[in-house]
Order: sequence, then structure tokens, then C-alpha cells
Amino acid sequence: MTQLLIGGTWRDASDGTTREIRCPADGRLVTTVPEGTAEDSVDAVRAARDAFDNGPWPRTPSPERAALLHRLADRLTAEKEDVARLEAMDTGKRMVEARVDMDDIIGVFRHFASLAQADAGRVVDPGMPDVASRIVHEPMGVCSLITPWNFPLLQTSWKVAPALAAGCTFILKPSELTPSTAIWLVRTLAEEGLPDGVANLVLGAGDRVGAPLTELPEVDLVSFTGGLVTGRRIMASAAPTVKKVALELGGKNPNIVFADADREAALDMALTAIFLDSGQVCSAGARLIVEDSIHDEFVDELVARAGRIRLGGPDDPQAETGPLISAAHREKVEAYVAAGLAEGAVLRVGGTRPTGEGWDEGHWFPPTILDGCSADMSCVQDESFGPVLTVETFTGDSPDALEEAAVSLANDTIYGLAGAVWTGDAGRAERVAARLRHGTIWINDYHPYVPQAEWGGFKQSGIGRELGLAGLEEYRETKHVWHNTRPGAQYWFPSTRPDA
Ligand code: NAD
Repeated sequence: MTQLLIGGTWRDASDGTTREIRCPADGRLVTTVPEGTAEDSVDAVRAARDAFDNGPWPRTPSPERAALLHRLADRLTAEKEDVARLEAMDTGKRMVEARVDMDDIIGVFRHFASLAQADAGRVVDPGMPDVASRIVHEPMGVCSLITPWNFPLLQTSWKVAPALAAGCTFILKPSELTPSTAIWLVRTLAEEGLPDGVANLVLGAGDRVGAPLTELPEVDLVSFTGGLVTGRRIMASAAPTVKKVALELGGKNPNIVFADADREAALDMALTAIFLDSGQVCSAGARLIVEDSIHDEFVDELVARAGRIRLGGPDDPQAETGPLISAAHREKVEAYVAAGLAEGAVLRVGGTRPTGEGWDEGHWFPPTILDGCSADMSCVQDESFGPVLTVETFTGDSPDALEEAAVSLANDTIYGLAGAVWTGDAGRAERVAARLRHGTIWINDYHPYVPQAEWGGFKQSGIGRELGLAGLEEYRETKHVWHNTRPGAQYWFPSTRPDA
């Protein structure tokens, strides 16, 4: 079934428009899906509102909500290979990566299942003998969940699992480029007994279907993962109705390497930091900030290894990373590299798309390293969201000055999503980590995350947190219940006394 799901009914777009989904690796037709309209979004919002106000889900006991999340995790475990293939075909990523994503998603559903009963509230001591006072957490309401194309089902699970655990209803709008696993998800939730109208699915481009999801007063929360420019627009359109907004935006993440770091580990992980999934990772370590004394040796070896990384599609057993998501995205990455070169960056490897048989049908771009960069260049400040690493150096005439130089470069960005520091000095690692203004800091590592730990950005990388316990709290309202157990008139207005 490749249709929209609105109020429990599968249907085509209201104006009959469809969109072809093609694999970014070779252009093959994957599926054809409805391209929704604003009218479809309005219907989906109304369905979610009705299910929240009048349906059973917000009042379903939390153990039952947890059980449904576990059943979803069971289904994904059983159907892992098929769902991984849907993801690999839509994104062009290798099957081996798509399988890892599925394992992560199973973990996310189980994490929020385990939290469904957590932190139910607390008793408040009001300091008065005849008052019972308590804080309760209730489901937030109707949530618009808008997700990107790079980790389609993973990013979706970070929103859908806590929304369901909390008792919310939602409208899911996945990226128009990668809808297949979102369709699997809402279908499977329905098969596992989620009541009609709790999970609604609208497919289509943001400028066709987005406005009602972010503007209508019936929506209580907009949770968005995507680019900074879209995030700003969504925040503005949610403002007139004062919706709660949760934003997971981009990053320009520093990877700091001191000369005293484990050299081989730092080298290897500098490659993974930026070239994993061809750089289409919000937390990609796109800024290498390396101590000047080891720059030449470190970057020469990095360039040599980057040049050996093999590109290939979902089923290529030799492939080590995949294509970019679309022709338009590759053009954006190419323009970003050209701007860096115009500003004086030195191209050390990559930089031009491969051509010829086997390459022309896909959106390929090789691992690319721009050396000799400085913080005033656009290639250092702007997110490319592609396989492009910029290299800056730091130095200092004392240990403190050295750390200061590294930290000030790493914080010289409007973003604040993630970053790493590599050093053999544990004290230095902690001092630097404490001063980095980013939401996740890795010390002598890059990229691992677990669903138990909060994820999100400082500064313009976003608002709010996903995962952890905070990732559930995003989907809950806090209510104070005050119960006067011995009510009596107080006559604040003396003239209103019956005997006045
Ligand atoms: P995007 O902003 O173009 O689109 C994201 C989603 O928003 C898509 O579903 C799109 O259709 C929708 N959208 C676009 N305009 C809209 C509008 N006016 N109203 C409502 N919805 C609208 O981003 P993208 O290109 O899909 O993803 C790449 C970006 O996502 C990168 O900047 C990356 O850093 C970011 N990202 C961040 C995280 C994180 O955890 N912080 C994770 C993954 C991706």
C-alpha cells in the first residue's frame, strides 16, 4: 500500500498527483507514491485532533502503549532485511549501513517503551496541611513530525516512539525523497492495533503539504529535523499560534586533533567522522582542526586514505560509501567546493564527480579534502552536507594557549550540534570538552550515540532534545493539580460577605 493514511483510511492525493521515487545510486524506479496537497494535510491534522480529543489512545494505560512499541520493535526485527532494503533503495545507501540503521531503530522503540511509565509526576509539598498538590505529565496533544532523507526511519523513530509512548497523536511527513519506510511504519502500527487517527501519514514536498502542519491551531507541537533555513521558516509559521517547536537542525562539527593523540585512531576516525554516508550526516566531523606541528604528516596520510574510499550502491560488496541523495544536492555540494577554492582553500583530493558508465546515472561525489582553510571562509562556516572536509590548524606558545586556540576555532560557528577532541591527556580532554558549545562531545571517538543519551544542538543547531528522558518530555505537558481537601470561603473581597 503506497498511499496517504488519514484517519485510518488509505487514500491518494486529493488532486491525484503522484511522485516517482528513484534510487540515487542508479536512477532505477523504486516506487510511485501520492504527492499530497495542503487539503490532505488539513484532513490529517483534523483526524489527529479528533483521535486525540475523542479517541482512546491518550487515555490508554502506559503499559499498553509500551507493549505496542515493543510489538513494533518485534516486527522490525522480523522484517529487518525487507525494511533495510526499502531504506537502501530510497537513499542509495549500502545495505550494510541500512541494516545498522534498523538495529538502531529497534533500540529506539525499546528505549521509549521502557520509558512509557517513567517520571509520571511528583508530589509537591505546598506547606499547607489541607492541600494535596501534585505535578502530572500528560500527552502534549497533536504533533506534526517532519523528517529528512538522510536516516529516514531512524530520524522518524526518534519522534514517533516518544510521541506514542507519551500518548500523543501525530501527522508524519517524511522527506518527499524517501517515503518508503514511513509507509511501512504507519502500516505496521495499524496492523499492531494502533487506533485509527493516531498515526497519520502525509507525503509530499514541504511547499505543497507543509503549511497546515505548522500553522493550524489544532496542532500543539511541531517537531522538525532538517536544514537551518527550513527550521527558521517552520519556527516563524508556528509562532502566531504559539506552538511548541522542537528543532533538530544542521551542524558544522569540529574534530580537534592534538599532537599527543593516538595518531592511528585519530586518523581513522577523522575519515569516518566526515565520510560516513558520504557526509550526509548532521553530526559529520566536517571541520578538522589539527595541531600545526602534526598537520603535514596527518593530512598527507588522510588524503592518501580518503582517495582509496570506494563508492558504490546498495548491493555493491566492494562499496564503502554511497551516492548523494539527489542531483540538486550534488550541485549544492559542488558549488560549496567551488566557493572554498575561490576563497583560497587548497584541493588535496576529490572535488570532481566521477563520470562514465556506471557513474552517470547516479549522484556520485568523491571524498574531498580542502586544506589551508580559515574560519572566515564560507566552506568552513556553511554546512555542505556532503563528503567535504575542511582543514584548519592551531598552535600556541603554552599548553593553555594551545587549548585556547583549539577551543576558539571549534566554537567559531553559528552551529553547535556535535564535536570531538583527540588527545592523550585526560585533563586536557575534559577541559576542552567543558568549553565546547556543542550538544554532543566525543573524547577520543566519533559518531557513537545511544538512545539512552539526549541528542540535540546548542545555538542554531536547534531547540530541545531527542532521545534520553528529555526526548520523551518533549511530548508531554506538565500540569499542576491543586486539591483543597478542606474548602472554605476566604472573602478576599470583604464587601462580598453574605453578612456585609
Ligand atoms: P530540509 O530542511 O530540506 O527538509 C526536511 C524536511 O522538511 C523534509 O521533509 C521537507 O519536505 C520538509 N519541509 C521543507 N520545507 C518545509 C516547509 N515549509 N514546511 C514544512 N516542512 C517542510 O532538510 P533535508 O535536506 O531533508 O535534510 C538535510 C538537513 O537536515 C541538513 O541540514 C542536516 O544537518 C539536517 N539534519 C539534522 C539532524 C539533527 O539531528 N540535528 C539529523 C538529520 C539531518
